[in-house]
Amino acid sequence: MKISIPRETLDKIMKDFGVSEEKATRLYLSAFDDAESYFWDSIEEKMADEGISSVKKSNIQLYTPREVKAFLDKYIIGQEEYKKRIAIASAFHFSMIKIMRSKDHGLRRFRKKNTLIAGPSGSGKTYCIEVLGDLIDVPTLIVDATDYTEAGYVGKSADDMIRELIDMAPGATKKEQAQYINKNGAIVFIDELDKKAREGSGGHDISREGFQRAILKLIERKQVSIENPMSPSAQIQDMMDKQKGKGNRLDNVLSTENILFILGGSFQRGSDPLENIIKKRISRGPGSTDEDGNLVIGGFTLPDERKDESFKNLYPFAEEADYIKFGIIPELVGRTPIRSYVNHLSKNDLMRIMNDTEDSLLRQYQLEFESFGIDLQFTDDAIEFVAEKAERQKTGARALIGVWEDILTDFQYELPGSEHKSLLINREVCDTPKDYLLKILSRNAFDDYIKKFQGEMGIEIFFSPEAKVFAENYAKSEKLQLSDALSVLLAGASAINYIGHQGRFEITLEVLENPKYFDDLYMNWHKERFSKVD
Ligand code: ADP
Repeated sequence: MKISIPRETLDKIMKDFGVSEEKATRLYLSAFDDAESYFWDSIEEKMADEGISSVKKSNIQLYTPREVKAFLDKYIIGQEEYKKRIAIASAFHFSMIKIMRSKDHGLRRFRKKNTLIAGPSGSGKTYCIEVLGDLIDVPTLIVDATDYTEAGYVGKSADDMIRELIDMAPGATKKEQAQYINKNGAIVFIDELDKKAREGSGGHDISREGFQRAILKLIERKQVSIENPMSPSAQIQDMMDKQKGKGNRLDNVLSTENILFILGGSFQRGSDPLENIIKKRISRGPGSTDEDGNLVIGGFTLPDERKDESFKNLYPFAEEADYIKFGIIPELVGRTPIRSYVNHLSKNDLMRIMNDTEDSLLRQYQLEFESFGIDLQFTDDAIEFVAEKAERQKTGARALIGVWEDILTDFQYELPGSEHKSLLINREVCDTPKDYLLKILSRNAFDDYIKKFQGEMGIEIFFSPEAKVFAENYAKSEKLQLSDALSVLLAGASAINYIGHQGRFEITLEVLENPKYFDDLYMNWHKERFSKVD
C-alpha cells in the first residue's frame, strides 16, 4: 500500500508541535494506523446499528456471569466460589471492553477485575481458566511464573509473556494480532506466583520482587512492544524502516489494559505456608478458641486433634495482610481486587470428576479402547477405589490419571488386536490388574516372567514346582499380585546375566527362600575371578 502524506498536513504538524520532518512523518504514519483501525471500528458499529454484521470480523460473544458459570459447571466439579468469581470477572471484563469502544460513556478507563486465586495444587485453578478461554474464545495464555525472570536477568521477561499472548491471536501480522487483542481483549493466567514470593532478603528475593513489580505494571496498563526490542531481527527491521523513512517499528505496542489477569498459586511453601499464616492470625485474635481450646472460624470449629487436615480449608479466610506476609508485595495484592480460593478435592469430588464432567476421564478411556473395538466399562467400586487411592496422593485430580494408567497400562498393550472385545474394570481388576490380565489371556505369571527375563537378559530360566508354590504363597501373604511378587523375589536375578551364566537356569526353592541368594552368587563369582587374576 502506498501512502502519500499531504505537504500541508506535514508542515502543520511540524509547526504546531515544533518537531522535525522525520518525527512528524513518523507520528503521521502512526496516527494514520490508529485512524484506520478506528475507521473500521466505526463502520462496524454503524453496520451493527443497521443490523448488518461483518462476515469476516467476528465480534466476541458476550455472556452473563450465570451463563459463564453454567459452562464452567459442566467441566469443573465443586469450587463454586472460584467459578462464580471468575464468571463475574470475565463477563464484566469483556462487556466493559465493548462499552469502552463506544464513545459516549465518559470513562477514560475501567478498573479491571484482576483476580488472585489460592488453593491446593491439582484442584482446578488452571483448568477453570482453560475452560473459560474455550467459551469466551479470546487468546488465553496460561503460564508459570517460574518460567520468567525480572527484565535484565537471563531468561524470559514479563513482557515476553505479552508477546506470547499476541502470537495466539488471529491475524496475518503481529500488528494485526495485537490489534485483535486491543479490540477484543484477552486472558492471561499466571500460575505459581507463590514461587516468586519474597522470603528473606537475599539475591533471589530481589529478583523475585523485581518479577512481581514487572507483573504489577503489566496487570494494570503497560505499553508492551509487540516485537522483542532486544531481538536482532527487530533491531535490523527498525534500522531499515528508519532508512526508508517509515515509522519506527518499535513504536508498535500493545497496551495491556484490555487483558484480564488471573494470578494463582498454592501458596504452600514449606517454611511458612499461607494457611499457617492465616491460622496464626486467627488464633491470635480474641474469641478465636472455644472452651476446649479448638480453633473457631466464622462459626465453625476446627478440632485440632484431627490428623487429616485436608478438610480444614483456611484459604477462604485469607486477607490482604496474609498474602503480604507470605511475600507478595502490597501493591500487587492491592491491584488484584478479586481474591478467591479453591478447596482440597475430597474422594467424593474425585469420583464426580471421573463420572460427571463433560470431558470425563472415564469417557476418554472408553473412547481410547473403543477405537480398537473394545468395550470398556467400570464398576462403581472400581471408581471408588481409584478415588481413594488418588486422594491419598494429595496432588488433587492430577493423581487420577496416574492411578488409572497403573491399572490400565498392560490392558492397553495387550488387548488391542487380541480377540478380547470387552473389559469390565471392577475392584478385583484394580487390586491385581496384571494377574487378571494374564488370567483372561490364559497365560500365567511364571510363563510371563520367563519370557520377559529371556527378552531382557537372553537367559532361559525355569521354576521348580516347590519354587512356584513358594512364590504363590508369598504373593498371598504379602497381598501382592503374583507377577509383582516374582519381581520382588527375583529382584537380584540380573546377577545371572552379570556372571555370564550359560544355558538354562533353574529357580529353585533355595533361590527364592534366601533373600541374599543372588548377592552371594555374584560375590562368589567375583571372588573366584579375582583369585584367578592373582
Ligand atoms: P491447579 O489447581 O494446580 O491449577 P489444574 O487445574 O491444572 O490444577 O488441575 C489438573 C487437572 O485435574 C485438570 O486438567 C483437570 O483435568 C483436573 N481437575 C482438577 N480439578 C478439577 C475439578 N475441580 N473438576 C474437574 N477436573 C479437575
